[in-house]
Amino acid sequence: MNRYLLPDLFYDYGALEPHLSGKIMELHHDKHHRAYVDGANRAMEELLEERRAQNFSEVAWLERLVAFNVSGHVLHSIFWQNLSPDGGGRPNGELLTAMKRDFGSFEVFKKQIVSVASTIMGSGWAALVWDPILGRLATIQIHDHQSEVIQASTPLLVIDVWEHAYYLQYQTDKAKYLAALWDLWHWDDVAQRYAHAQRLNLGLQGVAQIPQPAGRPSLELPL
Ligand code: MN
Repeated sequence: MNRYLLPDLFYDYGALEPHLSGKIMELHHDKHHRAYVDGANRAMEELLEERRAQNFSEVAWLERLVAFNVSGHVLHSIFWQNLSPDGGGRPNGELLTAMKRDFGSFEVFKKQIVSVASTIMGSGWAALVWDPILGRLATIQIHDHQSEVIQASTPLLVIDVWEHAYYLQYQTDKAKYLAALWDLWHWDDVAQRYAHAQRLNLGLQGVAQIPQPAGRPSLELPL
């Protein structure tokens, strides 16, 4: 059976200091993220057992466990790669152009996603996603790891706002944690995800109308 794996980080646990402490990174990666990987594999095995036994009474519950744990695994895996000891600054190139088109400016995007992250009730994530239906960048607020996702949207940059992501270092000062991340964002990684997401083909037609400014040839839809 295919199994989920805890990926290694591309940097040492202490490499993101002083913005994120080595102790947080170690616990977050080696305990929290690992628990989602183990939880995902366990739920998948139990699903397989149910199917072997032709007993489907627990399928809905097990699939909920899969959704929660796999989504936690995926989001953490993206989060680690979104961060870098050499991060910070601003995006450039096509990603910056897209941010200007869809948010007005990089600064407005930053304000919007920080607001999305700051206002989560309980545990969750803020994410910058590519919405292939309208061909736009968007921000979303994800409750737990999986609720309120726009189907088919692709996460490009994610912010873990669960308390385990910052409490040990920042206690109740979530705003300070959110500010510190802007010295760590690995914009080349986000830009690469943006470039890959452009190639997503859902095979849908007639599901959106995207007017083009007068005098410009219509763009080929990414669908
Ligand atoms: Mn986390």
